[in-house]
Amino acid sequence: MPSPDFVILGQGLAGTALAWQLLRRRRSVLVIDAERADSASRLAAGLVTPVTGKRLAKSWRWDELYPAAVAFYRAREADTGADFFHQRPALRVFASEGERDEYHRRADMLHGLVRPADVPACFDAPFGGFEMPDAARLDVPRYLDASREYFRARGAYLKAEVDPRQPFDAATVIDCRGFAPDTGLRFNAAKGEVLTVRVPGLSEPRVVHRGIWLSPVGHELYRVGATYTHDPLDASPTPEGRAEIEAKLRALLKLSFEVIEHRAAVRPVVDAGYPVFGRDPAHPRRAHLNGLGSKGSLLAPFFAEQLVALL
Ligand SMILES: Cc1cc2nc3c(=O)[nH]c(=O)nc-3n(C[C@H](O)[C@H](O)[C@H](O)COP(=O)(O)OP(=O)(O)OC[C@H]3O[C@@H](n4cnc5c(N)ncnc54)[C@H](O)[C@@H]3O)c2cc1C
Repeated sequence: MPSPDFVILGQGLAGTALAWQLLRRRRSVLVIDAERADSASRLAAGLVTPVTGKRLAKSWRWDELYPAAVAFYRAREADTGADFFHQRPALRVFASEGERDEYHRRADMLHGLVRPADVPACFDAPFGGFEMPDAARLDVPRYLDASREYFRARGAYLKAEVDPRQPFDAATVIDCRGFAPDTGLRFNAAKGEVLTVRVPGLSEPRVVHRGIWLSPVGHELYRVGATYTHDPLDASPTPEGRAEIEAKLRALLKLSFEVIEHRAAVRPVVDAGYPVFGRDPAHPRRAHLNGLGSKGSLLAPFFAEQLVALL
């Protein structure tokens, strides 16, 4: 086989979006991935949310990133025949009177992104809440698996653990290994823990936010998360993480629940939390797409395209 134009190290949200953007431009690509079960992308809930945080801030560059993500995932569904991008309103429950006041203060800025909503009685919501019509959820494992099969069928995928210092027979090697300190990037990474719970009697089709998120996966199962800690940066679930999520869920939900699964992974946050893409100044035949932080589903399509334009 002739050597590819690009070798991509890692098939998480970053490497996958990049491979698609290169293949669309008819460049030859080889994606190499160790298939680590504890990568951030394998745990990510895939939530794409326009208004986030206590301050009810509009998500960074939403007006360009969201349309790019929608077009990208819809096109990949058509390419693969799989169904993984679900656009559906999300519900935000106010945690306090102050949060509700903040919502009204920001009404102009949030115009078009939010609308009034009644909160179902099974949630503890003395201050009410609102709905975000333009929210979405990417079924990340399904998207990654369908993409992998597509790449494999075209000879563009290899399962292997790579030593990133090894020489590659390619014009450019793009490092998309997520949180990997030997990339030379200045990580400010954050571990996150997530529970899968069964809630008998709950049939809420929307993702519900209030300090935590509750994301439906079907058959009364929901994923709930996530914690945000910096030490240690590993993929081991902790009793403290579980207790924190359970306490927040108990405060939100009036129904009882049973914990089915508990997992953890590390978000690849770099520096101040913005995406990092471009050629490596010290190694011009190397490039990076990293720093997708807690928003890989929203950021990856747009910044993969930016990197390809740059290369
Ligand atoms: C708890 C939690 C919840 C999250 N929720 C959301 C959410 O709701 N919405 C959202 O958009 N984002 C969410 N995120 C963030 C999201 O997971 C990340 O932004 C994204 O997954 C980062 O993707 P990545 O491809 O850069 O890295 P990774 O997902 O870490 O992928 C790196 C890939 O490289 C491979 N690899 C690593 N080392 C090697 C090697 N030496 N050789 C070969 N292959 C290697 C791994 O197998 C892996 O497939 C969440 C993250 C966490 C931890």
